[in-house]
Amino acid sequence: MTFSSLAGQQELRRMLTGALAADKLSHAIVLAGPSGSGKKSWGKALSQAILCANRSGAEPCMQCFSCHSFCSGNHSDYFFLEPDGRRIKIAQIRSIRNNFYLSGSKKVCLIDRAEMMTAETSSSLLKILEEPPVGLYFILLAEQPLLLFDTILSRCQCYMLQPLKYAEIIELLTRERNMAMEQASLLAHLSGGLPGNAFKLADDDQFADRFAEAKTMAGNLASGRDSALQLLSQAVSLAEREDLIPFLELICLFYRDRLIQNLCGNCEQLINPDQPSAWVEVVSPTGLEEAVLMINAAIYEIKATNANRRLLLEKTLIMLQRRLAK
Ligand SMILES: [Zn+2]
Repeated sequence: MTFSSLAGQQELRRMLTGALAADKLSHAIVLAGPSGSGKKSWGKALSQAILCANRSGAEPCMQCFSCHSFCSGNHSDYFFLEPDGRRIKIAQIRSIRNNFYLSGSKKVCLIDRAEMMTAETSSSLLKILEEPPVGLYFILLAEQPLLLFDTILSRCQCYMLQPLKYAEIIELLTRERNMAMEQASLLAHLSGGLPGNAFKLADDDQFADRFAEAKTMAGNLASGRDSALQLLSQAVSLAEREDLIPFLELICLFYRDRLIQNLCGNCEQLINPDQPSAWVEVVSPTGLEEAVLMINAAIYEIKATNANRRLLLEKTLIMLQRRLAK
């Protein structure tokens, strides 16, 4: 894995590649960020770069024995720890600790969800960090770095991963998943800037069907073509959906995107401009704005209360059609 295959994170990229190229990398690094932000990918790219035998600059060569071993998951000097159950236990670090003191080549220990180390494990790690063997690097990944021992944090160089830009997620999805622009744009909005979320949605088998259904329903409601009876029947089906929240979020995004298009003609838009739906012309910005607010309110009620889903959806669908189609 190379740094150039990873998206965004310009600041992190500049600092890591600069330190690698100058051979001034700290022997203990914390990569912090929310779940899905790409910590593990960055941690692996960094591990491979450290271990590469032929590295010039910051990027691993991808050709040497070390790079091949790393990519096939069999590198003898790469150690990966993650919670066994809920915690990272002392036995896990004990089982590999002797390897850290073998002389010779560089070694990397990547610890995923490092904040889940028990106090005993943290103490054991701290002892190693206090007198680190030459050539040994620790990379700690953490969603909540402040849960790490202060004494560990103070010995680490800490980097915070940032959410990716909308365009960076689109580029990632079109490149890595060969995804069409329209879907990639939508997933970029849904991902919250977290590439892990975007890939999770992209790899969800049901996403394409959900996308098509949501698009149809958004168009039907806006065109006012369904009778009240049809809307009530749709509310019953919707109420039974296990993916009700993501489904409503999709419909909301369609209206939000239309709203942006209406308000500022050449803003970045969610839907392929070559395939505008007929209804985009007929819905007013006020109607779209009310629709977005209404769907968000319904999502909140479903998440936060024990509201009767069917009744709530009946009311929401009827009100949506009324606001959008007026
Ligand atoms: Zn290499």
